[in-house]
Amino acid sequence: MKDDTRFISKRKRYKVMKRQGWTCNICGAPIRFDKNSSYHGEVGHIDHIYPYSKRHLYDGDINWIGNLEGLCFSCNSKKRDKIYESKKQARNNILGDKKNGNK
Ligand SMILES: [Zn+2]
Repeated sequence: MKDDTRFISKRKRYKVMKRQGWTCNICGAPIRFDKNSSYHGEVGHIDHIYPYSKRHLYDGDINWIGNLEGLCFSCNSKKRDKIYESKKQARNNILGDKKNGNK
């Protein structure tokens, strides 16, 4: 059965953060895991690398752990539902924006 819910288990979120060494997958800022909430402050956000909102186009399980990454608040709010072909592209785009201000 295809796991198509927005819900990502605590266990899975923990695994994703741990895999990344408790840092943001884009900028490397330290993030932490809060068992009660993962959506506030410096607590890491779990992001769908291939966006959840476009899951109907994704060939596979959108909540597969390989499609998840932990991001800090800043990177997550910049990425939104953009699709990047590589981590490098994501970094250049998201961190480039940060360096160049409003460009
Ligand atoms: Zn970040």
